[in-house]
Amino acid sequence: MPSDNDKIELLVKRIKYAPSREWVNSYFELVKRIIKITGLDNDDPRLVMSLSPNSTGWRFPVTINNRYVVALRKKKENEQTKLYVGLIFTASAREIPQLRDSPDLGKWGQFRNLRGEDSDPPYFLRFGNFHELLYWLETSEQIYQSWSEALLAEVGRAKSSPYRKSHEPLMYKMAVDVNFRAEILDRVYTESKPGLGLLPEQIDEPQEFYEGASKSITVNAYERNPQARNACIEHYGAKCIICGFVFHEKYGEIGKGFIHVHHIKPLGEICAEYQVDPINDLCPVCPNCHAMLHMRKPPYSLNEIRAMLKR
Ligand SMILES: [Zn+2]
Ligand SMILES: [Zn+2]
Repeated sequence: MPSDNDKIELLVKRIKYAPSREWVNSYFELVKRIIKITGLDNDDPRLVMSLSPNSTGWRFPVTINNRYVVALRKKKENEQTKLYVGLIFTASAREIPQLRDSPDLGKWGQFRNLRGEDSDPPYFLRFGNFHELLYWLETSEQIYQSWSEALLAEVGRAKSSPYRKSHEPLMYKMAVDVNFRAEILDRVYTESKPGLGLLPEQIDEPQEFYEGASKSITVNAYERNPQARNACIEHYGAKCIICGFVFHEKYGEIGKGFIHVHHIKPLGEICAEYQVDPINDLCPVCPNCHAMLHMRKPPYSLNEIRAMLKR
């Protein structure tokens, strides 16, 4: 039997499969919602959350009785690796225009009929655009219903899952215990911190937003809001506040509007009720200057980097 520590090591390793902290966090938030909708708890024999990938290549799958209800998987498509989130929907999903017509949905996979199941089986849809999926679940009644009905149908199908022995309580904890999740994510994302001249790995969400201790989730949720970012860029322009670099000028069309946004306020001063001020707390910086700001922890000030910059 592997110890809890071994399992945490494994979990930390597995999480690196996903592209960013923000992404992983959103995934486990989604899992948390599934747990809430279905009312399944860690001891329920119908629930299986496994840590090990299986032969199908899906990662972090959640199974209810016989079927996956959510999982993620990478797929190579014309030289590009795409990350898909698979999610269960009722068969009626095919009548929902947004889903039917979305270019970001992978191949429509329908589950096979289970023994004794006489209705049209549900779909396991693959979303190549996770943000769009989350947006739809928030805004489309139809999509939300098709999803939650499919979840509840699986819950009602049997009394226990044949895969229950693969259930890993640690995964359940990742979903429901946000402090534990933040701890794990701190471990994953401080190990790969800049410092060797690496860029903060994210364009939209520089990771310092997540480095505060237990309060980080609240700050995250706020920082993920692209409005603050946009307001900042609208105010300052997509121009590095330190060195003046403008991507559009050097790279033409593809660089238009591209810039990192750096958060100035030291995390120690951030409390749960903190509301970011897009003009005083955020500023646009190019990825080079951004990386230099983060060469120290806590980050250098804008003026410190400006003073170092050789003209
Ligand atoms: Zn710069
Ligand atoms: Zn930054």
